[in-house]
Amino acid sequence: MSNVPVAVVTGSNKGIGFAIVRALCKQFPGDVYLTARDPGRGQEAVAKLQEEGLRALFHQLDIDDLQSIRALRDFLKEKYGGLNVLVNNAGIAFKVHDTTPFAVQAEVTLKTNFFGTRNVCTELLPLVKPYGRVVNVSSMASSSALGGCSRELQQKFRSDTITEDELVELMTKFVEDTKKTVHEKEGWPNTAYGVSKIGVTVLSRIQARMLNEKRKGDHILLNACCPGWVRTDMAGPKATKSPDEGAETPVYLALLPSDADGPHGQFLSNKTVRTW
Ligand code: NAP
Repeated sequence: MSNVPVAVVTGSNKGIGFAIVRALCKQFPGDVYLTARDPGRGQEAVAKLQEEGLRALFHQLDIDDLQSIRALRDFLKEKYGGLNVLVNNAGIAFKVHDTTPFAVQAEVTLKTNFFGTRNVCTELLPLVKPYGRVVNVSSMASSSALGGCSRELQQKFRSDTITEDELVELMTKFVEDTKKTVHEKEGWPNTAYGVSKIGVTVLSRIQARMLNEKRKGDHILLNACCPGWVRTDMAGPKATKSPDEGAETPVYLALLPSDADGPHGQFLSNKTVRTW
C-alpha cells in the first residue's frame, strides 16, 4: 500500500474540474486523480496535462453509477488505504432554452448533482484520512434558489438539525412535485439546477456536522463553494472567469493547511464565507 497523499476530482476531463486538477498537479504533494465517466475523454485530458509537463493519473468515475463509485472506492482503499482530498465537482445543467419538460429536467439534474454527489460522499467520506479536505462544488444558484423557496422550506434548509434523510426526502419531493406540476404551489422555486445545488450546499452543512460529531479528532475540513461564473461548456463563452480562475476557491479549500481549523461546513465564493 502506498503512503503517498492522494487527491481525487470528479468530472475533471474538462471545465472547472480539469482546471482544479491542473492546479493540484502544481500544488498538491501527492498523486492527483483526474476522473471522468468516459475513459477516452479522461485519457485525452490526462495527455493534455502531460503536454503541459503535469502528471495526473486517471480513474474512471461516473457519479450516476454506484458500481463505478464503488470500484473507485475499492481502488483507493487498496492502493492508498484511503484518500486525502476529495473534490466533488461533477455536475450538469440544462441550457436555459432547452425544451425538455421541466419534470424531466428536475429528475435528471437532481440525479447527478444531488443524488450522484451524495452517493460519492457516502462511499468515499469514510475513507478520508485525518487532515483530509473535502470540497463540494455548489453554486451561488443555491443561494438564489433558497431565496425563492417558501418560508417553511427556507427554514428547513437553513436548519442546524436537518438530517441527511430529511434532505433526501425533500429533494425527492421536489422531483415528485414537478411531475405533478405542483412544485410552485408546494413552495419550490422554478429552477431544477438551483434546487439541486441547494441540495449540495445543505448536504455539505450536514456532513460537516456529522464529522464534528463522529470524527472530531480527525481535523477533516469539508465545505461547499461556488467557483464563480466560469467560461465552460456549461456556462458558455460570455462568463467572466477563466476555468483556472474558477478553480481558485475549490483549490484553496482543497489545500487548507493542516493547522487550519476552518472554514468548515461553510459555503464560500471568492474564498469568502457567505451567509446561508
Ligand atoms: P462542464 O464544463 O460542463 O463540466 C462538467 C464536468 O462534469 C464534465 O467533465 C462532465 O463530464 C462531468 N460530469 C457530468 N456528469 C457526470 C457524471 N454523471 N459522472 C462524472 N462526471 C460527470 O461544467 P463546469 O462549468 O466545469 O462545472 C463544474 C462544476 O461547477 C459543476 O458542478 C457546476 O454545477 C459548477 N458551477 C459551474 C459554474 C460555471 O459558471 N461554469 C458556476 C457555478 C457552479 P462529460 O464531459 O462526460 O460530460
